[in-house]
Amino acid sequence: MRERTGRNQQGRNQQGRDQQGRVVLNPGRERPVRQQHPWIFSGAIAQLPEELPDGEVVEVCAADGQWLARGYLNRRSQIQVRLLSWEAAEPIDAAFWQRRLQSALALRASLPEVQGCSALRLVNAESDYLPGLTVDRMGDFLVLQAGTLAIDRRKQELADQLLAMTGCQGVVERSDMAARRLEGLPPSSGLLAGNPPEGLVEVEEAGMHFAVDLLRGQKTGFYTDQRANRRRVAAYCAGGRVLNAFSYTGAFALHALQAGASQVTNLDSSLDALALAEQNLRRNGYDPDLLTANIAGDVFAVLRDWQEDPAERYDVVILDPPKFAQNQGAIERALRGYKEINRLALRLLRPGGFLATFSCSGLVSAELFQKVVFGAAVDAGRPVQVLEWLRQSADHPVAITFPEGEYLKGLLLRVL
Ligand code: SAH
Repeated sequence: MRERTGRNQQGRNQQGRDQQGRVVLNPGRERPVRQQHPWIFSGAIAQLPEELPDGEVVEVCAADGQWLARGYLNRRSQIQVRLLSWEAAEPIDAAFWQRRLQSALALRASLPEVQGCSALRLVNAESDYLPGLTVDRMGDFLVLQAGTLAIDRRKQELADQLLAMTGCQGVVERSDMAARRLEGLPPSSGLLAGNPPEGLVEVEEAGMHFAVDLLRGQKTGFYTDQRANRRRVAAYCAGGRVLNAFSYTGAFALHALQAGASQVTNLDSSLDALALAEQNLRRNGYDPDLLTANIAGDVFAVLRDWQEDPAERYDVVILDPPKFAQNQGAIERALRGYKEINRLALRLLRPGGFLATFSCSGLVSAELFQKVVFGAAVDAGRPVQVLEWLRQSADHPVAITFPEGEYLKGLLLRVL
């Protein structure tokens, strides 16, 4: 009874909005919207509001005029509407954002995987029903990424809300991802709320401590999506010689040493990342000179050089490259890249050795990635067995209505 009254009132309010804020779909295009996929591409849209500025909330209707959902608009993007709510009686007001943020935070509070861990993803955009908004917690600071125009407009309010909800010291913006260009937005970074971090911020993961550079580090400073995989891969490293390729600040290396690896080599093209990797080793009581080599270089070139060098043989190789496929047009080249590094890595493994290989390209499915690695094994002439299929950590959930949210995949292989 109460609900019906609410809907009627909403219906009346809506009529006022409808004049300017209505998006009408082409006939037969309502199914994904009803099934709560959060994106509406331009091709599905018959009619856009004429006056309403981009970034504002719109009412989405089927071709026959039936109300379907509420979202926000950006005519400049291929994804012209991102959906926020499928409840006619749910207005997109401050309380709405608060509820969505609370729900995202509640998940993390109950996740076993992140207990005792101070680096984690608090808000995972579309998969937390907050399209365009990514928030990581790094110790006592938050790092916010605004991926869309509508979120960019609201980022100050969101940062204030998040600061109040978490009791953190400050919120730093790192909206410098390439995808912002597709929304017509320039990169943007700096302090959004509270106090700025003084220098590096320390985070804890699995009892280890890592220095994170929130303002200058890559992405949000620390790759929290690999947390579970670092632990799983480390379990294969006891007593072994480990190559951590695309090491960034050496998180896989520290996990491997903690699990008893005898020696770890970090390999990365970024000198800043390697400097932090060395600091992180010392911070956790390891002597970088005794246990590790930190090598600056291009993984493709270095692995090629090592093919003929019998001294460069490993018990475990970890390959965690950056996103090779940024868009559809880059997929072919990305696949060749994945095949090549995997082929080279397999040939550096001792018999019985393990390869942990990843791809964070959302456009490359887990199935396709496995095929590419299979091709690499054939070319390398090394028979391999798949021991484990790896995915992104649980603080990077995937809404089942949004399979695009699944981007990180990996394989743990044994070479015969
Ligand atoms: N495994 C890391 C994250 C890796 S991010 C972790 O758990 O924290 C990818 C890294 O690859 C970045 O540090 C980047 O500097 C490095 N990189 C990108 N292209 C490279 C290349 N061709 N050769 C070596 N390193 C590269």
